[in-house]
Amino acid sequence: MITEGQALARILENVSPRRTRTAPLIQARDRFAAKDVVARVALPGFDNSAMDGYAVVAAACAEGKSQRLIGEQPAGVDRELRIEPGETVRVFTGAPIPKGADAVVMQEDVRVEGPEIFVNTKVEQGEFIRRRGCDLSEGQKIVETGTRLRAQTLALLASQGFADVEIGGEVRVAIVSTGDELVPPGGHLGAGQIFDSNSVLLQSLVKKYGATIADVRHCPDEAAAIERAFRDALQFDVLIVLGGVSVGARDLVKPALNAIGAQTDLWRVSVKPGKPFLFGRAGHCFIFGLPGNPVSAFVTFLLFVRPALLRLMGAGNDELPLARTNAILAAELNNDADRPHYVRGQIAEGKFTPIGRQESHALYGLSRANALLRIPPGETFRAGTSVLVIPLD
Ligand code: AMP
Ligand code: MG
Repeated sequence: MITEGQALARILENVSPRRTRTAPLIQARDRFAAKDVVARVALPGFDNSAMDGYAVVAAACAEGKSQRLIGEQPAGVDRELRIEPGETVRVFTGAPIPKGADAVVMQEDVRVEGPEIFVNTKVEQGEFIRRRGCDLSEGQKIVETGTRLRAQTLALLASQGFADVEIGGEVRVAIVSTGDELVPPGGHLGAGQIFDSNSVLLQSLVKKYGATIADVRHCPDEAAAIERAFRDALQFDVLIVLGGVSVGARDLVKPALNAIGAQTDLWRVSVKPGKPFLFGRAGHCFIFGLPGNPVSAFVTFLLFVRPALLRLMGAGNDELPLARTNAILAAELNNDADRPHYVRGQIAEGKFTPIGRQESHALYGLSRANALLRIPPGETFRAGTSVLVIPLD
């Protein structure tokens, strides 16, 4: 059986970013930049006042000395005013600095008497002037290909006058849940049946990471129905199949993939939960088979599907690993299995506490977990030691 690392490497060597598109800034949050972007205007674009106050020549402002008020410079226009030593111009925050001025005095530090002002403080050269280009120069790189566009980055692009940005392509995902026992939420549950919870889980996760849900279906455990659903899904970028990838007689996903001519690149990974995970492809559609137990589906999505979706969406390498953070382990944990075990837990005030039943069907515990801890096979982690956990939120 291959390791998690080998599985992920095999998946990532197959998927490559989809065709890029141009999007208005406001629709680009959490998408990935498809091009480097370079500043085309300096920030600030001109010397301007950081305060409501008075522009002066610092050297002429010995304490108590009066300055002659010769005009007013608001923000939004440049009146091209000029001052000589001993003169001053009323300025407002963001207003262009009059020529000759080398400082701004806050209005709180000034007494105004008719056409004169008296400065009640020491004035330093350069004070309260925001110099052109002090934040950013023209030509400086402001966005790197493959990085996530955050609100702050989008604001920076807006400050450059860009109305839109080149981002990674849309990734359309079809989800097919399989199983005779499944009833859609809202339906009527017969004896021996369960509600289909994975479909909602996977739709939510796919949306969370920014891909598009193109189609959602449920199939009974019948070869013909499953094959038909798969064929229909191949028009999309990704097919996520839920359940039916194990080794039982009712596990029809692998034979169905064979029947429609899809290629299975890997099946079964050394991970707990999630061993029966499958990855394959047909044409330009990438196929992920997730085990039906909800925790297995969740863990294999995070480990294998999430990075593939991000790569298809144009994410750079830095974006692919799951974030990890240090925590102190509240209770001893050991893994006597031969596969790495992802333990569900809660992290609070720097402490990780396992939560709920650690079995792959235990959805309630998963619903309360906000972090996962990976324990390598055969290892014991003692209470009180520092461990690296994967936050989920
Ligand atoms: P399977 O992977 O199809 O063998 O299913 C493994 C376990 O997960 C069985 O107990 C199934 O009833 C359950 N299961 C399969 N699909 C789902 C689903 N969509 N929602 C909730 N449980 C499921
Ligand atoms: Mg099944």
